[in-house]
Amino acid sequence: MQTDVTPPRPSRDADDRPDRLPLDELPRWVPHADPVALLLTTAHLTGDLALLRDEWRPDLRIGVTEGGYPEPVREEIRRTCLDALGKAGETWDRDRPTYDTLQRVVEWAMRPEFAAYTPLLGDTLSFGPGDDPGRPSWTLSGVGGDPDFRVAVVGAGESGLLMAHRLRQAGVPVVVFERNADVGGTWHENTYPGCRVDIPSQVYRYSSHPGTWESHFSTRPAIAEYLRGFARDNGLYDCIELGSEVLGSRWDGERRRWVLTVRSAAGIREVPANVQVSAVGQFGRRTPRTSPGPSGSAAPPSTRRAGTAPWTSPACGSG
Ligand SMILES: Cc1cc2nc3c(=O)[nH]c(=O)nc-3n(C[C@H](O)[C@H](O)[C@H](O)COP(=O)(O)OP(=O)(O)OC[C@H]3O[C@@H](n4cnc5c(N)ncnc54)[C@H](O)[C@@H]3O)c2cc1C
Repeated sequence: MQTDVTPPRPSRDADDRPDRLPLDELPRWVPHADPVALLLTTAHLTGDLALLRDEWRPDLRIGVTEGGYPEPVREEIRRTCLDALGKAGETWDRDRPTYDTLQRVVEWAMRPEFAAYTPLLGDTLSFGPGDDPGRPSWTLSGVGGDPDFRVAVVGAGESGLLMAHRLRQAGVPVVVFERNADVGGTWHENTYPGCRVDIPSQVYRYSSHPGTWESHFSTRPAIAEYLRGFARDNGLYDCIELGSEVLGSRWDGERRRWVLTVRSAAGIREVPANVQVSAVGQFGRRTPRTSPGPSGSAAPPSTRRAGTAPWTSPACGSG
């Protein structure tokens, strides 16, 4: 069971960075900060990588919060960081960290065997408004691509939305087929009571798209609204066909393109695409449960839906 560790709301948008550290506000916020994020942020802003001490290496396993530090260590970290940030108040570093800094951070937080992931981090982490290193460095017209080239993405969950956004940034015509009535995938479908993330909300944020969270482990509506906001703010609804299920696809070797069979309220039609991307998620389908019942007796396959597949309230006749 996750507990809420919600700090008071910040007074400014997460991406609206001031020119200098708000020194007078720090004592108010630092006691609520996640110690791991605080250490990493302080090391970045002050350039003092010695803050990443061996004895403060965090436990980042799922289910462990705040680095797994005992309370006295958390307090010591917060005191140390507050002091370091206070000293750096006028001269803090607003730039992206260097590759070497990122590498050191990865090795400290995640152990040296994860150093190979540093380039991936460098490509995905954003350090402020307009900082979008994952943006494609090419465009379709720039590489002399066929203007009729077209990509079909199946699914408008977290993965499909980002794929569509990146393709549009590269000027590639894209259409997304989503069988549900709105975007968000599993976070749109699941409505069971208390549904929320079990990893920090920030992990659900696209690094280049701002988001502030209601709590450390946000509830389903907050995640769903964030994903709808991502689609809205980036104009993605223009290229998403909601209520459209892809029934199948085949390769047309003669014309060298895919042909998708799409079912919507208007009927069934075939849609050609040069490339199709599957972003259908892994947990959206009903899975009959065949394990024995609690008493050990063979239970009939359950109608309950497995994993993150959609919940139907018992009052509606399922569940
Ligand atoms: C309570 C909860 C907690 C979770 N916790 C975590 C976590 O801590 N960490 C983690 O990594 N993941 C977690 N997940 C899993 C979740 O699946 C992922 O986080 C993520 O949202 C998956 O995104 P996706 O885009 O890959 O897939 P999905 O969100 O499943 O989206 C797939 C989309 O494709 C659409 N689609 C599928 N087939 C078709 C078709 N044939 N035609 C048209 N559309 C189609 C679906 O309608 C859906 O909208 C959690 C999920 C829930 C509900």
